[in-house]
Amino acid sequence: MEKTHHWWNTQSLAANPRTCRNYIDGRFEPAPQDMIEVSNPANGKILGHIPGSTGAEVDKAVAAARRAQPDWELRTATERAGVLRQIAAKVRDNAEDLAAIIVQEQGKVSALAQVEVNFTADYLDYMAEWARRIEGEVITSDRPKETMLLTRKPIGVVGAILPWNFPFFLIARKLAPALVTGNTVVMKPSELTPLNAFAFADLVAELDLPPGVFNLVGGDGGGCGHAIASHPDVDMVSFTGSVPTGQRIMQAAAANLTRVNLELGGKAPAIVLADADLDLAARAIHQSRVINTGQVCNCAERVYVEREVHDALVEKLSTLMANTTYGDPSEKDDLDMGPLVTADAVTRISGVVDAAARRGARIVVGGKRDTSLPGNHFQPTLLTQVPDDAEVMVSETFGPVLPVRAVDSLDEAIALANDTQYGLTSSIYTTNVNSVMKACRELRFGETYVNRENFEAMQGFHAGRKKSGIGGADGKHGLYQYMETHTVYLQET
Ligand code: NAD
Repeated sequence: MEKTHHWWNTQSLAANPRTCRNYIDGRFEPAPQDMIEVSNPANGKILGHIPGSTGAEVDKAVAAARRAQPDWELRTATERAGVLRQIAAKVRDNAEDLAAIIVQEQGKVSALAQVEVNFTADYLDYMAEWARRIEGEVITSDRPKETMLLTRKPIGVVGAILPWNFPFFLIARKLAPALVTGNTVVMKPSELTPLNAFAFADLVAELDLPPGVFNLVGGDGGGCGHAIASHPDVDMVSFTGSVPTGQRIMQAAAANLTRVNLELGGKAPAIVLADADLDLAARAIHQSRVINTGQVCNCAERVYVEREVHDALVEKLSTLMANTTYGDPSEKDDLDMGPLVTADAVTRISGVVDAAARRGARIVVGGKRDTSLPGNHFQPTLLTQVPDDAEVMVSETFGPVLPVRAVDSLDEAIALANDTQYGLTSSIYTTNVNSVMKACRELRFGETYVNRENFEAMQGFHAGRKKSGIGGADGKHGLYQYMETHTVYLQET
């Protein structure tokens, strides 16, 4: 069969910038007056424009989602799952070109963008598998001749607000569990990386999905995102992004007591004990720190290593960091890292590293923005002797900067690891089972990786404690976030 031609089937979006239009109620809307420019972080070239939607467009999308929801809920879960599988097939058919969009607008290296797209298709299929596994409960009653049933139902209209770091995968992480359980969706991608989501909408539009089941609106956070989070007819806001935005969204949702599911930032500690396989630890931690240019919520952001192996680990990490290749991933496809997503991120990370250096930190590798290249590049950086209260040890850095700190015991490492406002992920490297058991019992994080770093599995449960979030995603528990319970008392007369 001949393949449909899409606007993204091009070598370079910069040569053919795209004007995207909101997808509401099964139609692409006319482009509004206000548009937001989208550019390539590796070279500043304009790639396209998306609508700068405000409350009026969000109202329209929410109304469409509301109208569509009852019929969508009435379809069987297996029918709804069939739609997810069709979308997955479309994504696979277009995988290479979709990955190329992500490379250009987010700055991800090509191999990782491919992984993201393929994982997205697999995730849609995985969530489709849940169609026949959504279960309720039969509960023993206190009353004679009564049966109690706990059933699960969709929540209604889900407002989904996405970040830029895994922009395509996050579409599926929210859409797939929402749709298979009978909800309808109004989605807003990040204004920094929206083109892949508009390409996704094109693929959905080619299927016979009922109008209003999936709606996509472009826009910024303060206008469009806020309009979704504060909308009285949105039943749940599913958000992935930073802690400050999560706090704003929760405040906006509070006006209507709208449910929130918040997947927020992290400051993952990696603990390396003296009995660890140091080569394995160094490789895993380095990879975790530079993948996606350090812009991953659950990657190692700080290392606590037992003093006796501190120098050996630092030496291995410094070789790996110094050999990390970076540049424009649209031009070279064998790089370890691309650019940071914005020029502001480069300025912020430079400031954090400089501040640590002023307080006595030693810069072992890197430490500076790279002005020899166009775009938002920061050198892969390794720091030691960083004060515990320096910003780079305390707040999410979200860049290729790794501070390493010596500790005298596992107890000290766990105490420092837990001394944070975040609680997303953590890791430990050791060959001692008791150390693993103690760490898993005492670490206050939603996930702990033993002898490896990220990524999380789609059948797990990715959930942050403390300021890293409320609720979670993936697996059975992630699916059930998108459902309400309804208890029915059946009294026999
Ligand atoms: P961000 O908070 O800046 O923006 C995320 C989204 O929120 C964007 O679509 C933005 O337009 C929107 N937004 C901004 N202000 C808003 C407001 N007032 N109301 C409603 N929406 C608003 O986050 P980001 O920079 O895009 O993403 C990076 C962050 O995401 C990091 O902190 C990272 O750790 C986190 N993250 C977490 C996970 C996880 O699973 N826990 C996964 C990926 C990313």
